[in-house]
Amino acid sequence: MAEGDSLVRIARKLEPAMLGREIVAASAPNPRSTLRQHARRIDGKRVERIETRGKHLLIHLDEGLTLHSHLGMNGGWRVDEGRGFGKPDRSAWLLLEMAGEEGSVSATGGSPLATGSRTTRVAQFGGTTLRLVRTVELARDPRLATLGPDILAPEFDQVAAAARLRVSPDEVGVALLDQKIVCGIGNIFKSEACFEARVDPWRPATSLAKGAGGEDEAIRVLETARRQMQDAVETGKRPGRIYKKTGRPCPRCRAARIRSRGQGEDNRTTYWCPNCQA
Ligand SMILES: [Zn+2]
Repeated sequence: MAEGDSLVRIARKLEPAMLGREIVAASAPNPRSTLRQHARRIDGKRVERIETRGKHLLIHLDEGLTLHSHLGMNGGWRVDEGRGFGKPDRSAWLLLEMAGEEGSVSATGGSPLATGSRTTRVAQFGGTTLRLVRTVELARDPRLATLGPDILAPEFDQVAAAARLRVSPDEVGVALLDQKIVCGIGNIFKSEACFEARVDPWRPATSLAKGAGGEDEAIRVLETARRQMQDAVETGKRPGRIYKKTGRPCPRCRAARIRSRGQGEDNRTTYWCPNCQA
């Protein structure tokens, strides 16, 4: 599942294959691809910057264009390192053949092979969003414009984010998934961060105490989520203490079993220990 940590890892994986390079061929082999009619418009463009905003990936191209991608629950980006993508090319939503090295292939008039370096292929499979937009129009896209601060951004301000969390009318487990409050947290880190921070995900977010004694529950839960997600960016491993561990003894208190139940309008499963998350 693509939460903020996976997006940062995807960007890091794509950068060496794409950054500063020209797209020598673009296609949308999957008939259901939203870029079916537009893929050829990407031919010849150069990748200038790859950016993540929460669960959104933005691949900025030259000539003022950006590829906007959201992977939803099951989408993914893959890099073909010479052995294929591990799934059929024809199921790709977007398949990009990148010039093998920095420099314009078309300007030299030669094939990438003629420059002495081989091309690299990258592709998006599945996902909920894949579109080509003018970069200046991104600011007007409601999905991006309404995003709260990115929990993995270097400039993330946890005091400001905690204040946003505390005024949410929802329960903590719902508010943490609300990308308008803070973006990047998904269902796994929602449960794992509440567990680690000993916060009951079923409490109203407004009950998160500011704490006279230096205790601030909203900051604690956000700090925990951020640390867990930063670790996952570096290691590729997510904490798995309670997620999908329904019925197992709590790994911390051992006095209760992990419970799970759908929460909020979207009925996203929340895992928690009824004993030590108070
Ligand atoms: Zn417990």
